[in-house]
This record gives sequence, structure tokens and C-alpha cells, in this order.
Amino acid sequence: MKAIRRFTVRTVLPDSIAPLSKLASNLRWSWHEPTTRLFADLDPAAWKASGHDPVKFLGSVSRGSLERLAQDAGLVQRIQDLGADLDAYLTAPRWYQTLGEDAPRAVAYFSPEYGISAVLPQYSGGLGILAGDHLKSASDLGVPLIAVGLLYQAGYFKQALSRDGWQLETYPVLDPNGLPLTLLREEDGTPARVNLPLPNNRRLSAQIWRADVGRVPLLLLDSDVTGNDDAARGITDRLYGGGGDHRLQQELLLGMGGVKALRVYERLSGTAAPEVFHTNEGHAGFLGVERIRELMDNGMGWEEALTATRANTVFTTHTPVPAGIDRFDQSQIRHFFSAGLAQSVPTDKVLALGAESYDGGDPGKFNMAVMGLRLAQRANGVAKLHGKVSREMFSGLWPGFDISEVPITSVTNGVHVPSWVDPELTKLAREKFGVATVHDRDWSRAYEISDRDLWDLRRRLRSNLIDDVRRRVRAAWRKRGATDAELAWTDNVLDPDILTIGFARRVPTYKRLTLMLRDPARLKALLLHPTHPLQVVVAGKSHPADEQGKRMIQDLVRFTDDPEVRHRIVFLPNYDIAMARTLFPGCDVWLNNPLRPLEASGTSGMKSAINGGLNLSILDGWWDEMFDGGNGWAIPSANPTQGARTREVYGPDQRDDLEAAALYDLLENAVTPMFYGKEPPAEAGSAGPSDAPTGSLPSEWLEMVKHTLADLGPAVSANRMLRDYVNQLYRPAGQSGRAASANGYAAAKELAEWITRIRDGWSAVSVEHVDSIGITDDPQIGDQLKVQAYVSLGSLRPEDVSVEVAYGKALENDQLADPRTEELVQAEDLGSGRHMFSGTIGIEQAGPFGYTVRVLPVHAGLASKAELGLVANA
Ligand SMILES: *Cc1c(COP(=O)(O)O)cnc(C)c1O
Repeated sequence: MKAIRRFTVRTVLPDSIAPLSKLASNLRWSWHEPTTRLFADLDPAAWKASGHDPVKFLGSVSRGSLERLAQDAGLVQRIQDLGADLDAYLTAPRWYQTLGEDAPRAVAYFSPEYGISAVLPQYSGGLGILAGDHLKSASDLGVPLIAVGLLYQAGYFKQALSRDGWQLETYPVLDPNGLPLTLLREEDGTPARVNLPLPNNRRLSAQIWRADVGRVPLLLLDSDVTGNDDAARGITDRLYGGGGDHRLQQELLLGMGGVKALRVYERLSGTAAPEVFHTNEGHAGFLGVERIRELMDNGMGWEEALTATRANTVFTTHTPVPAGIDRFDQSQIRHFFSAGLAQSVPTDKVLALGAESYDGGDPGKFNMAVMGLRLAQRANGVAKLHGKVSREMFSGLWPGFDISEVPITSVTNGVHVPSWVDPELTKLAREKFGVATVHDRDWSRAYEISDRDLWDLRRRLRSNLIDDVRRRVRAAWRKRGATDAELAWTDNVLDPDILTIGFARRVPTYKRLTLMLRDPARLKALLLHPTHPLQVVVAGKSHPADEQGKRMIQDLVRFTDDPEVRHRIVFLPNYDIAMARTLFPGCDVWLNNPLRPLEASGTSGMKSAINGGLNLSILDGWWDEMFDGGNGWAIPSANPTQGARTREVYGPDQRDDLEAAALYDLLENAVTPMFYGKEPPAEAGSAGPSDAPTGSLPSEWLEMVKHTLADLGPAVSANRMLRDYVNQLYRPAGQSGRAASANGYAAAKELAEWITRIRDGWSAVSVEHVDSIGITDDPQIGDQLKVQAYVSLGSLRPEDVSVEVAYGKALENDQLADPRTEELVQAEDLGSGRHMFSGTIGIEQAGPFGYTVRVLPVHAGLASKAELGLVANA
């Protein structure tokens, strides 16, 4: 029978165990092991049946059982204690509260996806997981974040395999009432809504769900509401569902609707308005347009509103792959804005924000990353190398500047340790060192763990993974049509004593899922080595529209189907958080072989590292800055790189050949010998590989594991990342924002007028002539060089500009390598807008020396010299 109507009945708990309700609804349980242990202890079978979902679990426990629980004094006490612990967690001052009044009162964080827990599947991959970890660490550190996103009716797809290894996608629909969400309601009880006008007199309405991620509220907009037509209801149907208009409407809802939702939330909850707006990738970029609209509705001009909005906006770019950036047709944007999305804002100004007005840009396109950069005074990439790559990639927006001056910094990603560290490791820390939570512990304690304890722990983690792998392989084969009788072999898939390599990620081409298959015979030999074998666990989803990705998965699956190797290499369908939590800890080595430098950061290797896994990776993303020779291995890249730039010496095929060969060499000559100990076991073959490592322990390997835990641990933690964001971006942005808005936005208005004046007058600015005095025919170190620059400023004033001499080592092409700069001072007003500026520089190094002079606009309200993209070079 099919129900004609459905609703979810909320459990009413007896008073003594009432805290269970908030323990279940606040997602803090997802990284607080004592809370999940409580649920498991209450009713192990029901906990398992709920899929470890506290909301579902509580809903499934009968009234009678609940009343019995309420009679158990010990349990009641435990529940009360954990409830009190949660209250304290939610209210006590934490790190952020030590920063003082100048830190922003609240920070808004926008992301199209959030990977917080398996029970809230609202993510597709790294970007979402990172956002989830950002919120959790913000909560742990007391950072007053308010997060904004969309609630997708089907989340991302679930992956299964066909008989012949082709990816199959399903989109199970979620019932928001069964998720850890609360609908935001007006005081009269009606659901709060935000509205956006759409073309042809249509309207997009959305309700707002709130998830509590510890201390951080996450607001999720949901367009599946009565009053919307079917098309509008479908806007939040799935994550990255359609292309074109569907995608654009999702992003309009996220950005513009998101700011409106924030305003509703401020009104209903009495929370402080955000003083900083952070957009995680370009998808939410329209939030800046909405904020400009708010200001222009109140009578501000475009330039002032833009200046004020930019002052406290932070933009994080995540992709060095141009195809990974959202682009729309300019005509699409015009079409949607013509409906009155932002009536006070001239549509041409909006269009200009996303215009690709640089060499190689497409004049018909509207680029979300470009808009992100134009709307944010501060921007960053997600690893040091990615910062460099981004400065190069977007340098067209700052013509005339060196790439190193492009105002995009970097904050290297991190992972939320309590979410990703295995409970076994926490238990070890608790038993050995008496510390309650692993993320507060002193990481260097790892050196005090005995080799025996560490080796045994790593084996337990590997065994746990293998149990999970066998279960998943069986389930996958049943779905592929196999019968139980055919599946006896799955009981012996993988071996808890064999070196285990993990590789799991989304499957865009640049990540090279199938690089390991480059030489199948060689891989096979490694898998089946008589004394030093290895085993491999692979997982990954391909974007549904990416045929090439699906073909790579199929190639891999076909390889793993071979009866000769299927006990040593597996592909697990449906990579997600639930799988990842067992997979990362269980692998001894985490493999990553992207095409450098296309991996912005990557975080899965970090999750491996905090569990004592060693990384084996191309020097890309985070690994490029954190590999130190003792914490894993670097797979050499075939093509030489200089800074961020790769010189294409080899074509793609040769490059794959060379890098795959380097990977096999490392596995054969470095990784496996170290894991199994230097001495080959006496009776190779007869004793079998499982006895190999048990005699004497591989101390060199364990040393690397300890070093990884102790030194990579704190460096890759999301707490480090959050502190970096707060100190390098949120606080400066908050201060710029406050300065800009003080006294009725006086400073923003003044700065906007100044910018207009500078832009209008800049074409007349030039360096006419430079004299240098003091250089002899035989210049030596220690010589002083007096520089006199004759500069025409046209209508601008000397205090509007900085005249700089940049000097240093001159390369063969006359480029200055890492130039130093010295500001020249105005020495003489020559009339008619002409001035002489002078200063002295010292020559401090031998060899080719060069200098140049340039004029830049300067103002206290600018965050960097390059900000306006204006420079007059000699
Ligand atoms: C960590 C993680 C990712 C991202 O990993 P990358 O290394 O950035 O590719 C994707 N999916 C899941 C389920 C994860 O846990």
C-alpha cells in the first residue's frame, strides 16, 4: 500500500533522559565518540539498524524501551553528564574568545556543499568535506561562523556497478523531516521563507532548514515548497544536477537567497550580523551582488556599495582546472537579472563583474571565479603551490604586475581530526597518556608509543578495513548479479598482514585513477610478489556526465575482476564518508598521482596521515609543501616545473609512462622492502607473507609512522587551517569592513570617490624619464645609487601614488628576480602635474643588477598594491 500522506513523529522522551534529544539532533555527536558510544550502548541492534543515525535511532526505539532506559540510574547519569558536557561545549569560551573585541562578531560562510556526516549526504567530494571540516573546527575553536548552503532533495548520487563494471547512478530522495534539521519558523509558527523573482513573472521561494554543527548553525535553503511551480521546486533537486539555467538558479538561490536567509536568521535568533563573508569557491559569488543591492536600496551608489562589500569579503578559489570553474553566458545572467533580482543594481555592472576582460577571455562568458575575485578584497588558494598556480592563472586580471604580486594568498587545507581519527587511536592515546581527546593531545607523544603497540594498532586498523572491504565486495557482487554460491572467494579478499595501499577520490581525468594500470603486468607482479606482496583498495565516483571517468572506473573494475588478482585488489563502489572513515585508517600507504599542478590541495592523504598512514604522492597540492623525506615518498614528475609553471617536455602518454614507472619503482624498491623489513624472510614462499613482518618489527617504517603522526598531524589539522583563516583573512577583513562602514560608510564613500578619481586620471600617469647618479664604470658591492624619476601624474596628486624603484638581480631576459622595492619621495613639483621623485638604493650583491621605476596608486583602504590593477611602469 502506498501512503497518501506521510509525516514523521518526533519522540517524546521521559524527563530524566531528555538530553538524548539534543545529543541526537546536534551533529556534534559525529565527532564526539563518547556520545556515539552512548547510543550504541543503549540498544546495539537498533543503533546498527539505524545506520548509526541518532535521529533515526531515537525514532526507532519504542516507548516501552525508553521508559525502561529512564529507570536505569547508571544510564540516566551518563545521559545527564553527556548532556551537560554538550551544553558546556556549546557555551564556554574557547580559543576565539581570547582574541578580543577586534575579531569579527560573526562570519558568514557560504558553500554549495557540506560533507558533515554520512547521515546528511549533501556533498560530492573534497570541496564539501572541506566545508564540513571547516564548520567543525570553527565550532571547536569557538569561531562564530554562520554557514549557508542548499538542501538537495537527493544529495549526490549513489554509485553502483553494472555486471561489466560500468558506473550506475541512483538518486534516493531524502525526507528532510528524518534528517537532523529544524525548520526555521516565523514567530507565528509559519515556515520562514525567502523569495527571488524569476523571469516571466515566476517566483522562486525557499524555506530554510537549520542544522546544528556543534556551535555553528548551518542554514540550508530548500526550494521544494508549495507555491513554487514544478521547475522552481526542482531547483534544489540535486547537487550539481543539470547544467545551464538549472545550475545558475541554484547559484542565485545560494548567493542571493543565502544572504536573505541570513537576514531572516539574524532577525529570528537575535544573532549578530556577520562582519565577514567568506565564499568557499565561486558558486556562491552572487552573495556579493545581494549585499550590494542591500546597500544600493538604501541610497548608496554602485562604486561605494562595491567598495563596502569588497572590504569584508573573502574568496577562496579551489580549482586550477579552468574546466572546473562555473561559467555562464552573459545573456543568461542578463535574462535572470531582468526579472528584478536586484533592481537597484545596474545589470551592466553585474555583467562586468564576471566578464573575462583579459587576454584569452571569452567576451560572451560570465565567469564565477572572476566575479569572486572582483567582489572580494581578499582571496586565497588552498595550498602554497595552489596559491602560486592561482596567481598565474588569474594574472590577466592584474596586467602590468609580476605574477608574485597578484593579490591571491594561500591557506593550506586541513582536516578535522576528531572526525577522521580512528577511535582505536584515540583509545590508545587515552590508555597510554590519559588524554581524553586526541585533537587536544600533544602530538609529539606519538614518539613514546612502543613499536609493538603501534604495529599492533596499525594491524587492527587494517583488519577493520578488511572486514568492511569483504562485506562491501560481497554486496557489490550481489548487485552485479552474482549469487552467494559464486562468492565464496570474497571471504578471503585481502590479508590483514599485507601492505595495504589506498586510493580513493573523485574521478576527474587529472587525478589519474588508472595510472597504476599503466603496465598491468608490473602491477600484477607487485600484487603477487611471493614475499613482499601488496594489496590495493580503490574507490571513487565519476561525475555522471563524465564518460571518460566512467571508462576509467570500468578499466579498473575489469582489472580487479581477474580471478588471478581479485584477492589483492578491489574497487569499492559508492565512496562516501561512511566508507572513508574505515578506509583512511586501514591503509598503510595513501597513493595520490594527479597531474601536477592540477590538484589544488587534496585532503585524503591528510586523513591517512593523522591515522599513521604514509603518503606516496606526486609533489602536488598540500604534499608539495609538507613532504619532508621522512613522512612518505614523492613520486617524481616527468615534466620539470619552475614555480607553478610546468614545462611540457613530455606529452601526456610519455608522461604517464614515466610517472607510472617511477611509482612502480618506489613501490618495489622503497615502500615494500621497508614495510616487510630489510631482511627477506628466510623461507620465502613457504611461510607465506603473513609471517613476514611479525618476527622483528620494521623499525624504520614505524619511525616514519611516528614522525607522520607527530609532525604532520598538527600541520594538517583543520584547527591550524581555521586559525590561519582567522588571523590572515577574517580579522583583517573584519577590520576593513568596520573601517569602511563606520560613520554611515564614510570611509567606503571616500575610498570609492578616490578610486573613481584615480581610475579616471590614470591614463595620464607615466614615468617620463629616470636618472641614476653614482654608478661608476666599475660598480661594486656597497655602492649607492641615487635614482631620480620624472613622473607625470596628470590630475592626480603626489599623495595618491607611490613611486617605487624595484631592483635586484637581473635575469638574462632583463626580468628582475625577486626584486626589492624602495619608495621614492617627492623632491620637486615641476608644474603641470609633473614631479620629480628621488631616493637612494644600495647595491648589495654581485653579478647582473637591474632596476626599474613604477607608479602605483596608494590608499589606506587598499589591501594590496595590486588591488586596483593599476600601475605605470617605466
Ligand atoms: C576526503 C574526502 C574526499 C576528498 O579527498 P581528496 O584527497 O581531496 O580527493 C572526497 N570524498 C570523501 C568521502 C572524503 O572523505
